[in-house]
Amino acid sequence: MKTSFSLCVYCGSRTGATAEFANAAAAVGRWIGERGGQLVYGGGNNGLMGVMADAALDSGGRVVGIIPRALVEKEWAKLDCTELHVVDNMHDRKRMMAERADAFLALPGGIGTFEELFEVWTWRQLGYHDKPVGLLNMDGYYEPLLAFLQSSIQHGFMSDWQLELLRIGSDIGTLLPALVQAAGLKSGVINLSEI
Ligand code: AMP
Repeated sequence: MKTSFSLCVYCGSRTGATAEFANAAAAVGRWIGERGGQLVYGGGNNGLMGVMADAALDSGGRVVGIIPRALVEKEWAKLDCTELHVVDNMHDRKRMMAERADAFLALPGGIGTFEELFEVWTWRQLGYHDKPVGLLNMDGYYEPLLAFLQSSIQHGFMSDWQLELLRIGSDIGTLLPALVQAAGLKSGVINLSEI
């Protein structure tokens, strides 16, 4: 089946302190699956990653998991992904995730999630790709980070336009269609009627 869009999602390998985070990860997975989309993610079965991938599969989506060999056991590689790619190292994982996606989205997570978000965001500002990058600021989780980024602008280390490259939203039903639509407008290959 040809998918209508491919969304790369970065999120926690833990579920967080309250059930809202897992609920949101499941909602993101369902949103992708119900629209015949493709989820590209780190290929693990733990934390928000596993919850989201299960929800995407259960609702009919394709799931592409990409995991470095060294993390297969540590992160419980999700063997029932539509495609599971075991790659040699973290660099191969990140490159393949970026290549297979039309757009990127970060959900709540820890330092792995932060690193992935910042990398794909900095690649965007350098012009290495032109795919949209989103941040789901659910329950204000990312407020302190956003405050710090504003502080960085005030201190002269960042420009408004760099922050504006990030599409920030707190509502899945608004942010995800905006990301997919922006990706479609760029590439022209996404079927917007299916969104
Ligand atoms: P975390 O947000 O810390 O729970 O990690 C989420 C995911 O990020 C996990 O699948 C980690 O394998 C991944 N991760 C951790 N460190 C890095 C890194 N340096 N580059 C890319 N992904 C990473």
